[in-house]
Amino acid sequence: METLNMNGPYRLDSETIDEKVTKTSAGNYAFGKKDEEGNFLVGYVGRADKNLNSRLKSWIGKTKRPLFKYSYATSPKDAFIKECNNFHDFDPPGNSIHPDRPDNSNWKCPQCDVFDD
Ligand SMILES: [Zn+2]
Repeated sequence: METLNMNGPYRLDSETIDEKVTKTSAGNYAFGKKDEEGNFLVGYVGRADKNLNSRLKSWIGKTKRPLFKYSYATSPKDAFIKECNNFHDFDPPGNSIHPDRPDNSNWKCPQCDVFDD
């Protein structure tokens, strides 16, 4: 079975984000909810290139999904690669388009050829 390899899930609110996401770092996140058996259902995946904490806070009130999971990334590129894998592995209902790469990069998705230059 595919795995997110992320911490959580935790409640998506400012206090909890500050308690859990203490490093200023690039990273990845997933939003979702739990089913009746307590399994985390992935509803949306994303990444932050610089500051995961502030990126998560920017979502408060803008998503109806109550829980988040997160992981730090060692670089923006690592965050991009992981976001692509999460996108393809889970096909989250909230992600209607493929993750984007920074305009000045030539990074490629590890699972498809959407970036073919
Ligand atoms: Zn892809």
